[in-house]
Amino acid sequence: MPDKPPATLRLRVDTGALAANWRALDALSGKAAAGAAVKADGYGLGVDLVVPALRDAGCRDFFVAHWSEVEPVADHVDPQSISVLHGPLGEEDVRYAHASGAKPVVNSVPQARRWLDAGGGPCDLMVDTGINRLGLPMAEIGDEAIGRLDIDLLMSHLASADEDIALNEAQCARWNEAKAALDWRRSSLANSAGIVLGQAFHGELTRPGLSLYGGIPRRELADRVRPVAMLECAIMQVRDIAPGEGVGYNSVFVAERPMRVATVALGYADGFLRAWTGKGSMTSNGRNLPILGRVSMDMTVVDIGNAADLREGDWLQVAYDLPEASAATGLSQYELLTLLGDRFDRAKR
Ligand SMILES: *Cc1c(COP(=O)(O)O)cnc(C)c1O
Repeated sequence: MPDKPPATLRLRVDTGALAANWRALDALSGKAAAGAAVKADGYGLGVDLVVPALRDAGCRDFFVAHWSEVEPVADHVDPQSISVLHGPLGEEDVRYAHASGAKPVVNSVPQARRWLDAGGGPCDLMVDTGINRLGLPMAEIGDEAIGRLDIDLLMSHLASADEDIALNEAQCARWNEAKAALDWRRSSLANSAGIVLGQAFHGELTRPGLSLYGGIPRRELADRVRPVAMLECAIMQVRDIAPGEGVGYNSVFVAERPMRVATVALGYADGFLRAWTGKGSMTSNGRNLPILGRVSMDMTVVDIGNAADLREGDWLQVAYDLPEASAATGLSQYELLTLLGDRFDRAKR
């Protein structure tokens, strides 16, 4: 096949801002080092852009969820610096861990036995201290198989680090109980929001994800974290519409006056969900261009009445400030990032 023509959707990743965010979170982690959650293709931004920038900033610990995510990360860093959060669920996972060098995160007694029976080696241990999702129940930390593990990171995960509730301290206390009961080299509890909860939550390693990529789960991070992801889309067509005419499926927007509108190549199949229908905007040179009507699978229409110079082929920026976009759509900041589809041309800014 010939070379592809240029994409009409761009996701620009500000790797300078990403590196600055990692440094800021590393500094906020005090004596602990900051690692990086790079699961789900670096929260949707692209592992090939995100991992080298984090590595060059000084990050030495990387977290993915699935075994299938190891190889693309290992293209850029030592496989032994990669932890696989879902752990060894079957014999093939264990074989893959040994062959690749990536560390399994053991989450249960059966996972521990599976790892040990195949020869074991350094691993991480996730203890569930109150999220009741994935991880060894506290009641099982005395199990003999757990006692035989060679634990690098002793981890737990906070359920509500973005809120000030008593569960945070309760989880921290149980994590300390687990630390007292087991042998381990490093300990880790805090995600992005948890870093702000203070030194007691830091251990030797923190595990930010969202805030590396510009997300702001707690107010305290607002002036420390810079935006990283920028979305741009090309105008495919410009048209004038008369009063009374509808725009898009089901005419959920109807013009009340003559309007000039532009159709851009961004739709819900790209992760720009119908939650944006009648909300949000795009911009061109600082001019605000409101979204009109329903978002389609591959297209969205915007009002370009205050930008009469715009033509087919011109690029618009999508207003995608994560806290504001989350408030407008009801989607979480995590969803707003990880939804972004593969029709975006991802590149460094
Ligand atoms: C995803 C994840 C993180 C990162 O959390 P953020 O809220 O994105 O900072 C940390 N630890 C574990 C176990 C995770 O699954």
